[in-house]
Amino acid sequence: MIFPLGVVSPLHIPAWRDFPLRDRLQAAFNLPVIVENDAKAFALGEARFGAGQGVGHMLGMILSTGVGGGFVFDGKLYHGASGNAGHIGHTIVAPAGPACDCGARGCLTVVASGTGLVQRARDALAQAGMSVLAELAPEALTGQGVIAAASQGDALALRLLRQAADGVACAIADAAVMFDLDTVVIGGGLMQAGALLLEPIKAALTDRMRLSFTGKLALRAAALGPVSGIIGAAALALEP
Ligand SMILES: [Zn+2]
Repeated sequence: MIFPLGVVSPLHIPAWRDFPLRDRLQAAFNLPVIVENDAKAFALGEARFGAGQGVGHMLGMILSTGVGGGFVFDGKLYHGASGNAGHIGHTIVAPAGPACDCGARGCLTVVASGTGLVQRARDALAQAGMSVLAELAPEALTGQGVIAAASQGDALALRLLRQAADGVACAIADAAVMFDLDTVVIGGGLMQAGALLLEPIKAALTDRMRLSFTGKLALRAAALGPVSGIIGAAALALEP
C-alpha cells in the first residue's frame, strides 16, 4: 500500500495490483477518504487510546491470520518512504525456514501467524507423530485449534507456539535495537493463547536482548480488543 495515495497491492488479492482504492472510494461516496494499513492503524489506536498511551517509542504488533505491525514515535505514526514501515511480519527470523507467500524464506509470518501455525502443524503431522491435532477435521485445524490443543498440553501444539514465540521475540529484539523502543503492544486473535504465548516471548526476549538500553522494554497486551484498528483509522482521519 502506498500512503497517503491509498494505492493498494494486497499479497493475497492478485486482482488488485496498484489498485487505486482511495480514489475509487472517494468517487463512490463523494467524501474525503484515508486508506491505511490495518496494523499501522492498530498501532496508532493503541498508542492514542489503549495500552500505548503516554509511550514515546512504540511498536504495535498484530498476531492474527497474518502478522503486521506499526511504529508510533513521539505520538506520530511512522510511515516510512512509501507508507509501509512496520511490516514486521516479513522480517526474516529463520533464514533457512519455510517459504513465505511474499517470495522470501523464513519470514515471521510463516511461523507466528494463524495461517503459518496451521501450515507448520500440517507439515509436522505429515511426518507422523502423536498429536490431538491429527484427529481434528481439516476445517478445525486453525490457529485457535492449535492454541486449544496447546492448552490441553499437546506436545506438538506447544512446540509450534514456542517456535512462534521465538520468532516474535527475534523480530521484537531486532526492532528494539534498531529503533530504541520503550514499549511493544501485541494484539490479534493469537493473543487468546495468553501466557502460553506471552511467557515464552518474554523468556526469549530476555535471552536475546543483551544491550543495556533494551533492558527496560515493556511488553503489553493490547487494550482495545478488535476495534484498535478502527479507532486508529478514525484518529488518523481526524489529524490535521
Ligand atoms: Zn514474507
